[in-house]
Amino acid sequence: MKLNELNIAEACEGLRGKKFSAVELTKAYLDRIDQTDEKIKSFITVTKDLAIEQAEDADKKIKSGDVDNNPLLGIPCSVKDVINTKGVSTTAASNILKNYIPAYDATLISRLKKDGMVMLGKVNCDAFAHGASTENSDFFTSHNPWDLDRVPGGSSGGSASSVSADQCLYSIGTDTGGSIRQPASFCNLVGLKPTYGRISRYGLISMTSSTDCPSIVAKRVNDVAIVLNKIAGKDERDSTSSENKVDNYQEFLKDENIKGMKIGIPQEYFVEGLNVEIKKAVENAVAKFESLGAEIVQMSLPHTKYAVPTYYIITPSEISSNLARFDGIRFGYSAINDDSVEAKNLSEIYCKSKGKGFGSEAKRRIMLGTYALSSGYYDAYYLKAQKVRALIKKDFDEAFEKVDVIITPTAPSVAFKIGEHSKSPLEMYMEDIFLSAVSLAGLPCVSVPCGFAKPSDGKNEIPIGMQIIGKYFDEKNILRLASVYEKNTDWHNIKPEFK
Ligand code: GLN
Repeated sequence: MKLNELNIAEACEGLRGKKFSAVELTKAYLDRIDQTDEKIKSFITVTKDLAIEQAEDADKKIKSGDVDNNPLLGIPCSVKDVINTKGVSTTAASNILKNYIPAYDATLISRLKKDGMVMLGKVNCDAFAHGASTENSDFFTSHNPWDLDRVPGGSSGGSASSVSADQCLYSIGTDTGGSIRQPASFCNLVGLKPTYGRISRYGLISMTSSTDCPSIVAKRVNDVAIVLNKIAGKDERDSTSSENKVDNYQEFLKDENIKGMKIGIPQEYFVEGLNVEIKKAVENAVAKFESLGAEIVQMSLPHTKYAVPTYYIITPSEISSNLARFDGIRFGYSAINDDSVEAKNLSEIYCKSKGKGFGSEAKRRIMLGTYALSSGYYDAYYLKAQKVRALIKKDFDEAFEKVDVIITPTAPSVAFKIGEHSKSPLEMYMEDIFLSAVSLAGLPCVSVPCGFAKPSDGKNEIPIGMQIIGKYFDEKNILRLASVYEKNTDWHNIKPEFK
């Protein structure tokens, strides 16, 4: 048995059955990171000592039998570097926060710690989570284990590459406009963006507060359900977190009957420009559901075409406000610790260290957002975008009166080559075409592996993902459907050749 190739349920069984210890399991992952991360570049920080310490604690608990209802005890994971971890560097993959060590844990981290988490380290992303490839990271670009010349997706690219390269069992990322779903689809993984408010945002480095969602990426649907069970739920420290009952997501997966379930297929997501192999793969998946008894309903979400422009008004607007706190006074400034900058005071530091602060994407968003919110332009841009957002949400509300879930491709293309879109912000934004509407509406959505494509400019087959969108707080049914699909197909069992 290769410890690195287990999923959470298998690892949990092995730990409980004393086939291996949490320390052995953790060391296997740390070794794997050692052997592979030079090529994959998932990790910004590896927390080796902490991981071993946490694994030792887990072993003690397992030995004493203190394990009740706690499948994550001793299971190694990675955490996106926009999530605050007490005493562990949290950079948001940005130069600005290069030296920031949080004094507190995000709520989801405290919850996982209580459950015996083993954190292997903090993983790369686009700086402040702005992007779709990790190419906007101020440090380095992560690589896709399916083809090292390609991006793993973004912004939670390090989360996906670390799980896909068997460097950890699951990863916590964030999805503000697609950042867990798209990397999951690029790396043949399951990625869940829950309903807005399902998981507390407390302790996230905020990007777009009205759409930010802590999210989960793992190898199996069941694994995602296990993690969601542990971190979902009301948090007094986040007033937008929901009081809604937390379901037992894992328990729900046992119901495999999807007869009569109504699956909506929105015509706007199968348009020109969509890679033909992706279209075929999603159509085949839909046919599979039909053969299992689901009812397929062709439908329309008419405001879909406005989702990307609306997202790229609202998102920069909120970013311009959220990033204002990184003015160097409150959180320090990397240049302050940079000996090459000789300056007498803060303002001199800013002037002399130009280019060492925000990267170009963050600057672009701050400028766009400040513009859209400024007097005279507010009504024309921000207010209008909010009105269109309401129409996008209404499309979904009306659709969900007729169907139970909606299925679409996750991305219009498979993982693209490093450098392919990075020179054109607009091209990069268009990667979000199937992702933004769901985020603006705040709905839950899971991306699952559904096939492979062979790009003409590469030698490897590259994974395809489809997204299953659900009603508010109906994570249980989208995960259930995803699980039924997983049980009836083999895509998730295919692994990258990367060694
Ligand atoms: N690609 C989107 C953006 O750049 C998504 C980012 C995210 O979800 N964090 O805004």
